[in-house]
Amino acid sequence: MPARLLSTVRGFVFDLDGCVWNGSVLNPGASELLAALHRGGRALGFISNNSRATGDDLRELLHRLGVGAARHVLTPLEIIGEVIRQRFGTARVLVVGAPEMAAVIARAGHELVDVKDYRAATVVAVGNDFDLSYERLTAAARAVAGGAPLVTPNVDPRLPIEGGEFLPGCGAIVEAVAVAAGVRPIVVGKPEPPLFRMALERMAVPPAAAAMVGDSIPSDIRGAKAVGMLTVLYAPEGRTDAPARRADAGEADLVVGSFAELSSLAGVS
Ligand SMILES: [Mg+2]
Repeated sequence: MPARLLSTVRGFVFDLDGCVWNGSVLNPGASELLAALHRGGRALGFISNNSRATGDDLRELLHRLGVGAARHVLTPLEIIGEVIRQRFGTARVLVVGAPEMAAVIARAGHELVDVKDYRAATVVAVGNDFDLSYERLTAAARAVAGGAPLVTPNVDPRLPIEGGEFLPGCGAIVEAVAVAAGVRPIVVGKPEPPLFRMALERMAVPPAAAAMVGDSIPSDIRGAKAVGMLTVLYAPEGRTDAPARRADAGEADLVVGSFAELSSLAGVS
């Protein structure tokens, strides 16, 4: 039974947004659970679909919030430049997204294309863009319609923040470009396998001995299942989107309503 298996799991990979934290506030019991797992000798990994921060940025934030055990922290920004290179070679990339995303793509050796020169783009990378404008949306949609492949860190519809609120996620912006261009995006982050595999490699734990803990069925649970991990849906009470979540919660091996519950199932409380 999965509940019994959880006490024998050697490594836990946690989703961040909507799971370990909302905005930059840790969810109740997260700090205690992570410290207890670490003390109990379990390996810890963190994978976030964040399109505006690198793993190093998020590890620093975890440390500032008191999660000193966080070592292996990954986001799609670790690999987006490499994914573009593997699939399309060195590219001229139109980036509609955060400066952090443009920076990692440039660092991977690609040339960045200005919005006004969108016709020169051979790849369009779309992330969550807090400076989104109709001009940027138009440039991205036209470049993709003209044949440039559309690459994105994630297609998550929402970014959960403090107080039960949300911001439109990367997926909401990607979908606008994709619909206008009539093209489906290539997804770099969850639920695609690379981030899960990379985290497990760094933790030195095989998928069968690891559990993924996250709040999203489409990105965390389906993605982790596909690489052979045990899956735990974090579904706390009082979330505005909880009912929709419960309807397909059966896809997860386990559903927990709190980190205290997870801590007792993992045998560390
Ligand atoms: Mg999440």
